[in-house]
Amino acid sequence: MIGHPEDDTGDALARLERELARLKTGLELLGVKACSCCRNLFRATEPGNLFDAGELVCFTCIRHWWPERSRALAAQDRELIEHKLVHWLLNHHGAKVVRDHEKLPPDDGRGIRLVAACEECDGKGTWAGSKCHFCGGTGALCLVIPNPEAA
Ligand SMILES: [Zn+2]
Ligand SMILES: [Zn+2]
Repeated sequence: MIGHPEDDTGDALARLERELARLKTGLELLGVKACSCCRNLFRATEPGNLFDAGELVCFTCIRHWWPERSRALAAQDRELIEHKLVHWLLNHHGAKVVRDHEKLPPDDGRGIRLVAACEECDGKGTWAGSKCHFCGGTGALCLVIPNPEAA
């Protein structure tokens, strides 16, 4: 006997779901993971591809993701992720620290800019009683990452 058409559809869906779950496991075994924003797949073994902040975010999505995410975080969490993000951008994406904020290149709206509390002086601007050399006494670091497509 042939089953009801609805049952066939249900079976096919269940099969498809199992197939997808297998594919997902396979991709994870290969070290391929998805960006939580755009769902694009990246090789997670390349540390510059995805930023891990509990959720994975690709470089393209960072500039939209961080301003929103940072607003939703408690101050302590924000600082932790901010420092991690600063290191990630410095190490993997050629970010430059601009200590003198007046020397910032004009914003072309495409590169990424990020102002983070200075890690050395904890955003205070002073270190052991004198001006912090890392941030120049401002307590803030400004990070500029050139637009990769323009480079
Ligand atoms: Zn993305
Ligand atoms: Zn400092």
